[in-house]
Amino acid sequence: MKYFSRVFRGTLRRTLRLTACAAILAASSVLAQSSLLQATPAQPVAYVLDLSAPEQHLVDVQIFLPAGAAQRELQLPVWNALYQVRDFAQFVNWVRAKNRAGHPLPVHELDKSRWQIQGAQGGAIVEYQIYVDAPGPFGAQLNEHHAFLNLAQILMYPVDARNWPLTLRFSHVPNGWHIATPLRSERDAFLADNYDELVDSPVEIGNFAESDFDEAGGHFRVIIDADPADYDMARIVAALHKIVIAATTWMNDRPFDTYTFIYHFPRGPAGGGMEHAYSTAIDLNADSIKQSLAALTGVTSHEFFHLWNVKRIRPQTLQPVDYTKENYTRALWFSEGVTSTAEGIIELRNGLLDEKHYLDQLSEEITELERRPAHLTQSAEESSLDAWLEGNSYYRRPERSISYYNKGELLGVMLDLQVREASHAQASLREVLQWMNANYARKNRFFNDSEGVREAAEAVSHADLASFFSKYVAGTEEIPWDDFFRSVGLRVEAIANNVPDPGFIASRNFDGPMSVAAVTPGSAADHAGLQVGDTIVELQGKPAGQESRQELSELSSGDMLVVKVHSRRGGDRELKWKVGSRQEISYEIKDLVQVTPAQRERRIAWLKGEAQNSDAATSGAAPAWVETEGAAPTGANASGVN
Ligand SMILES: [Zn+2]
Repeated sequence: MKYFSRVFRGTLRRTLRLTACAAILAASSVLAQSSLLQATPAQPVAYVLDLSAPEQHLVDVQIFLPAGAAQRELQLPVWNALYQVRDFAQFVNWVRAKNRAGHPLPVHELDKSRWQIQGAQGGAIVEYQIYVDAPGPFGAQLNEHHAFLNLAQILMYPVDARNWPLTLRFSHVPNGWHIATPLRSERDAFLADNYDELVDSPVEIGNFAESDFDEAGGHFRVIIDADPADYDMARIVAALHKIVIAATTWMNDRPFDTYTFIYHFPRGPAGGGMEHAYSTAIDLNADSIKQSLAALTGVTSHEFFHLWNVKRIRPQTLQPVDYTKENYTRALWFSEGVTSTAEGIIELRNGLLDEKHYLDQLSEEITELERRPAHLTQSAEESSLDAWLEGNSYYRRPERSISYYNKGELLGVMLDLQVREASHAQASLREVLQWMNANYARKNRFFNDSEGVREAAEAVSHADLASFFSKYVAGTEEIPWDDFFRSVGLRVEAIANNVPDPGFIASRNFDGPMSVAAVTPGSAADHAGLQVGDTIVELQGKPAGQESRQELSELSSGDMLVVKVHSRRGGDRELKWKVGSRQEISYEIKDLVQVTPAQRERRIAWLKGEAQNSDAATSGAAPAWVETEGAAPTGANASGVN
């Protein structure tokens, strides 16, 4: 996924890289009385979602449980998509249950997200109402315009039947709305083999535009819910073609028959993408895609590559998904960060990025990491474990945390260079990922977090890479950039600049007040009496708000800053001080003074994402370790890896 407000980017481009069926009710009640509630566990669990109240953002859910145990438990996930506990149960207005004859059954709340029902031996119908109005690829929303649903946020699962097949129907779908989802369908129902597969399948319902294309032997659907004046479908489809070709040839694999891209281009703030095994959902601000498709191709390359890395090449620690609490993993530096590394390679391979812009982007990533003091105290693995803290502003401070996207992407680049060197250019990151695809994903195995990555990197390079992993992945040693980049004729230069400094950092939580998070000791702001925890009411005579960040960024050293604050110890005060300056260091990747022909050749291979001396890799033929023939479609490991 990409969660743009968390990923720190220097430039604009990188900042951005943040039918209805009338007979449904009748059909479902027939099902309830006949086949569904008979005492065979193979009967599907049937969900019916009533969309008759879009203006109130309310969905009425019915779950038809087959006959079985008398006592059942139903669980609503506490998290989904984002690695943040969001407690979707807060939106459940009420829960009831009845038996097949319509008699009420007792419902007992066990904890905030789990309910128990009694007397369900003959089958039961659980009903509840849930409020859904969270926009974006990590949300669930029903409004008068459309519905976009991450189903884990609204559907409870029977705890004893999470692996049972199930059906999904929608009732009272507003006139003219259509349904798009990667789920397969039969008559009026969508089908899934189990709950995990169901909730890995986002659903768009509305009046969207659709296109499709075939590429690399697969079928691709493109669903766009946006103002047609804001985008050009043909241009987007052409860009998606390029991404699909670059990614499938790089992995030498296409583990699906059909894949669905779902886009929203809202006029307001947006930016993010969520990966799924057979689809992705991406939101981008409408203005940002009018100027250039760079943001769209970047996030799409990232989410598309996730169909391998994290959906199929999956850490053991994320499996099975624990919907009841935090699902801790040390591997997000790889599953997210190295997906960003692959995003860069895909864009280089398909011509959407050139060498200069790629190296500029890497320079920004190095600057971002080096500027955060926490790179010396929090490892990439710890940052992965602590993902669950990202909703908290203190945690996001540069002194407290690094980003597993940021360091993980750089570790992917360094691992690529290290494997090339250790294998004498016989292997690269491509072979590491193909090895993991062949030995984990295609064998329905999960990898053992960083150890599993090391196993793959050592297998393809025939070298001991323990020190790389202990120093830079598990540890917090400074990464010796020049040592890694030398082989491709590059070095990293630190450049100091004087920049204006108001002497404090403030942050806001969504539309909350702007509060002072840090004051530089000894600064003019400190001397003026500004304190951590003060609320900034006015800045330069204007109410503090969304624009204050811009206001601050336009100040020069020596300018007078006038700030009205409300102190926690009471009272409003007006404070004035002169903007100071501080030294800021930027890092730039540059050519070595003399680049040898050998270094130049290694750089060309590196920027193509190909091993230099491996015939198998450069020709794109299946390497020896790929047992299954190249691009044979397989759904084999799909159901277990959501
Ligand atoms: Zn991601």
